[in-house]
Amino acid sequence: MPIATTVELEPLLDRVKKPAQYLGGEHNARSKPWETAATRMALCFPDAYEIGMSNLAMNLLYELVNDQTSHLCDRCFAPLPDMADAMRDNGVQLWGWESRRRLGEFDIVGFSMSYESGNTNVLEMLDLAGIPLESKNRTDSDPIILGGGSAVTNPEPMADFFDLIAIGEGEELLLRILDLHEEFDRSTTGWRDSFLDACAHRIPGIYVPARYRPKYNEDGAFLGHSRVDPQLPAQIERQYVDINSFVGPERPVVPNTGVVHDRVAIELDRGCARACRFCQAGYLYRPVRQRRADLVEKTVESCMTTTGQSEVSLLSLNAVDYEGLDQLIDNVYDTSEEYVRVSIPSTRVETFNVDIANALQRGGKRGGSLTFAPEAATPRMREVINKEISDEDLLTTCDMAFGRGFRTIKLYFMIGQPTETLEDSEAIAHLANRVMEIGRRHHGNKAKVNVTVSTFIPKPFTPFQWHPQDRSEIIQAKQKACLEIARDRNIHLMWHDPEESHIEALLALGDRRVGRAIKGAWERGCRFDGWTEHFKPASWFEAIDAAGLDLSWYIHRQRSVEEPLPWDIVDIFVTKRMLQREYARAIEAGTSGPAPSN
Ligand code: SF4
Repeated sequence: MPIATTVELEPLLDRVKKPAQYLGGEHNARSKPWETAATRMALCFPDAYEIGMSNLAMNLLYELVNDQTSHLCDRCFAPLPDMADAMRDNGVQLWGWESRRRLGEFDIVGFSMSYESGNTNVLEMLDLAGIPLESKNRTDSDPIILGGGSAVTNPEPMADFFDLIAIGEGEELLLRILDLHEEFDRSTTGWRDSFLDACAHRIPGIYVPARYRPKYNEDGAFLGHSRVDPQLPAQIERQYVDINSFVGPERPVVPNTGVVHDRVAIELDRGCARACRFCQAGYLYRPVRQRRADLVEKTVESCMTTTGQSEVSLLSLNAVDYEGLDQLIDNVYDTSEEYVRVSIPSTRVETFNVDIANALQRGGKRGGSLTFAPEAATPRMREVINKEISDEDLLTTCDMAFGRGFRTIKLYFMIGQPTETLEDSEAIAHLANRVMEIGRRHHGNKAKVNVTVSTFIPKPFTPFQWHPQDRSEIIQAKQKACLEIARDRNIHLMWHDPEESHIEALLALGDRRVGRAIKGAWERGCRFDGWTEHFKPASWFEAIDAAGLDLSWYIHRQRSVEEPLPWDIVDIFVTKRMLQREYARAIEAGTSGPAPSN
């Protein structure tokens, strides 16, 4: 039964902040006929509308399915706590933004998982939808629950909750799942099991957790997976696509309310050849694929026409490595309306140059900001993480950027990486002071330096996956030392709560037992864990204890390079041998240059 907005939502809207976010019907939203759709899918983002609407994968998959297939793709975002309360009080179940159908009516409910702090929101959304939380409790009348995205490349912590997990890039995988679903008759008893089996056997890149069982020894150490059927693949191979085989989104949905990135986002390329040793994205999105400049320009043109936006962000892990970036930006300005402005995300210091700075400044907004990510502040630490830049590179680049009219420089650093000392972390603040001095020379009091210091999370599929995370007291000591040194009032230092970083590490490195802690945390009221105002560390720690898990064993332990890892079930086409070699080099403060081969 469709939910009638006027009857079901109106009483709720009076009780919530920013009610427009729940209404759908935005400019460019698609509303395909429900009855004639081949497969009906709800594409869900486990965070608020204002964040999900800024997510490129959401926009891209939504347009791809709706515009190029006979399937229907609706959207759904996590209701904020005030809306969740109102829904429970009024017995209203979670719905698709376009169709206003309950999620339980869809064939497939797919979650785009960009970060682990969305895990508890997946449970919250399933619960609000009246769908059983765990795969084992679902029946033929429930939708198939699918997860995909970089946060589930280690699929084990969420394995109990997803029926299917897509490993790798989603464009082709998703279409294969929807097409395969079309072959099944949902009114047949047992269709669900047959469909899951078909996915496991017929679609490379699809992991069906219920068909694989984790094994542990009597001490609780993970030993590997067994398959319920020897015909199933022993490892799930990460999938990737040719990014020149499609463009998009060309007609992105224009949000009804303010969102975190209120601009058009267009992907320049995928992958990064730099191989920084902490960086999961650098390993997960190989090989590097550059989108043709003519396709990027065509997409910019369509998006500006179809959305009326004034800013376009050219997304990339490492935009300055895009061949011909300055020319591309110039071409965009040459062919766009005068009010259009182009931005790029954080850039590498050593390859940022005058041509790119000049091209960006053509946007006419003097005094903007530029973001650089040196990640470490001493030459030794940069060797450890394999980021070969010098202080001189950074200072010269900042001098050039301030000189070209940029007034704010944003710098990203990370503390807690392998072999780091207190002096290495203090160097972050010393470097920020030096950048500030340069800024003041150019812009006086108007210059600003914003420094974000994140905490190292050992990530699967990186050379640092075996390395322990710093304990809270060490992280806090490093943060305090930085604060005492960077005292200039125009330097703004930001960092992450160490407890939040510990939970993120647990969710990144966990095995299937961690699912019990995720469920326990959600039962204790945890959701929106990435939001400082909603994060409840005490509830998380209680849930971890209640699940019988030792947090320290998961995140503060030096892992042996010999031990089986929960994510060995996934093959990302980077060998463990190469990761081990890189880890050893890091510990010796060695460096091996860009893109080491297997
Ligand atoms: S430059 Fe380094 S940190 Fe940035 S995306 Fe590439 S590998 Fe990752």
